[in-house]
Amino acid sequence: MQSTKPTGQWFRSSDEHQWWFDSGAVALDFAYTGPMGDNPEWESLHDATDLSAWLESRFPGVHSPATDRDLTDGLALRAAIARSAVAASRDEAPAAEDVDVINLFAATPDIPPALAGGSRQAGRSSARAGQALSAMAREAVELFTPEQRERIRECAADDCALVFYDESRSNNRRWCSMKRCGNRAKVRTHRANAR
Ligand SMILES: [Zn+2]
Repeated sequence: MQSTKPTGQWFRSSDEHQWWFDSGAVALDFAYTGPMGDNPEWESLHDATDLSAWLESRFPGVHSPATDRDLTDGLALRAAIARSAVAASRDEAPAAEDVDVINLFAATPDIPPALAGGSRQAGRSSARAGQALSAMAREAVELFTPEQRERIRECAADDCALVFYDESRSNNRRWCSMKRCGNRAKVRTHRANAR
């Protein structure tokens, strides 16, 4: 699967400062704007303005402000993606009702690609929030196929349940973040060897 959008965002877990977590997919980054698993304190989309800001940061074509309806839609899609990602990380198929929600949004118009260099001013057209939601739903359709599912994994650290999509060619990513869980594991191994 090729994703052209940059992924990753600053992430705040309960015990720590902000750190950079690249989930490997825009749809999974979106899931991590909310309470993935059982972490209500991770919620960062408190109103339609928050949703607008997040979507604009990911989809440069989106300029029209999100409505409350968009927020309701976005949270429903996000919950379906989040649950499906957790299921995929456990090698389980997503629940039928979550598949229905993802398919529903994927069936609506997304943001059309545009070639620069035309006679009309490029970039003037403004996509709506709903189109960005559709784009992420379409990404989720690809992410949660049985073929891609094995690339969706939980961080290998025992005390970390963060889920990512492994984009690497070698498909051997182990950590949510090398700086965070990867280094902790190295330190633990080092201490164990030293003893
Ligand atoms: Zn981790």
